[in-house]
Amino acid sequence: MEQNNLIEVKNLKKYFHVGHNAVLKAVDDVSLFIREGETLGLVGESGCGKTTCGRTIVGLYEPTEGEMLFEGKKVSTKTRAQKLDFTKKVQMIFQDPYASLNPRMTVADIIAEGIDIHHMYTGQERMDRIHELLSLVGLNREHASRFPHEFSGGQRQRIGIARALAVEPKFIVCDEPISALDVSIQAQVVNLLIKLQQEMGLTYLFIAHDLSMVKHISDRVGVMYLGTMVELASSEALYAKPLHPYTQALLSAIPIPDPKVEKSRNRIKLEGEVPSPINPAPGCRFAQRCKYAKPECSQTMPKFKEIEKDHFVACHLL
Ligand code: SF4
Repeated sequence: MEQNNLIEVKNLKKYFHVGHNAVLKAVDDVSLFIREGETLGLVGESGCGKTTCGRTIVGLYEPTEGEMLFEGKKVSTKTRAQKLDFTKKVQMIFQDPYASLNPRMTVADIIAEGIDIHHMYTGQERMDRIHELLSLVGLNREHASRFPHEFSGGQRQRIGIARALAVEPKFIVCDEPISALDVSIQAQVVNLLIKLQQEMGLTYLFIAHDLSMVKHISDRVGVMYLGTMVELASSEALYAKPLHPYTQALLSAIPIPDPKVEKSRNRIKLEGEVPSPINPAPGCRFAQRCKYAKPECSQTMPKFKEIEKDHFVACHLL
């Protein structure tokens, strides 16, 4: 059965003015949709705009241009009431579990921030809900009166997840939720997110640079390069048959545990640094590093087109 789109983002732009006549085009004309109950992974090197994209979608940044639909209706966060309504449906889990929790607040008050803002529960019901959320994320009620510094990184991220779940959202942007954690803890947090999704029917945008983890959790994956979306497809299609030269290079760099296979594989080495997103040159953003670049590539930005069913690519070669 075809799932409905929970979120649709159309031609989203987020620019920052960073000096005289200098514009940082962090997100430049990105379109995507996320179906209800699925996980869309978003990958790319650091500075590619994936975090800004996630922050703009949840309303932490005002978009420069573009439109967003949530459950088929146009989202506006211009008034305080509209913002409040939207932040109840849409939440974010942050990258750094050390910096994202207020060290002076107890775990109970951190988790209940959204409950209090939206006047959802008071008194004993509020406390019961906090205990329920702690249990959902694998912590216990004794943790409620403690402070963030008393917890490990993995436990703090669980507190961050409980805080996001407190307002009963439908959609969560997970912004590199495991990259600050020990490798041994990362799988536990990802498995918790998968379990919660199955139990609560949540929809995720999962931002990460660990491509193996993204494959594990995502139904579909989008690849960003310098503010633009260059490829978007189902996980299977993208990892089995990447079409964009940048995606091919990214995926060829994933380490393979078998040393024999690792030795014999054909890694694509990307030459040069990621160019600056400030006043980017016209044409394809990847042109300076692409071994297939032709004159047209530095003049015209390739269109983001559906090349095969549900497989979108922006490249003049295709
Ligand atoms: Fe390479 Fe040109 Fe395709 Fe860009 S449009 S990825 S430069 S071939």
